[in-house]
Amino acid sequence: MTKQCKYIKPDGNQCQSFAIQGFDFCFSHCPDPEVKKAKHQAVVKGGQSEGYKSLKLNLRPVSVKNTEDVIDFLNETINLLRSGQISPKVANCLAYLTNQLQRAIEFQKLSIVERIITERKIISEQK
Ligand SMILES: [Zn+2]
Repeated sequence: MTKQCKYIKPDGNQCQSFAIQGFDFCFSHCPDPEVKKAKHQAVVKGGQSEGYKSLKLNLRPVSVKNTEDVIDFLNETINLLRSGQISPKVANCLAYLTNQLQRAIEFQKLSIVERIITERKIISEQK
């Protein structure tokens, strides 16, 4: 089950990221030393990597808002990988981000269902 990061930002708002599985916090706010170390390594590695821009692919911007968009995006990514236009490393990164998007979409759907159930309860209690 997807959990929201419990970190409260200096402005008083709760972090909107998803918590890492098994933790109450997201990758950025997790106080666990092992996670902090992994984050530091990811930042260092990110600074040294080839970078997505260097691929110089002329791709259209994508807007992934529902499950059909996720399927289309994954199909496009698979085709880019199969044709050698992106590396397995880039494909992995895109798959990870797509997974996060899918989780966010599911979280959004659940929130809507939860709201409808609450509204129906209120209406039935008023009768
Ligand atoms: Zn967070």
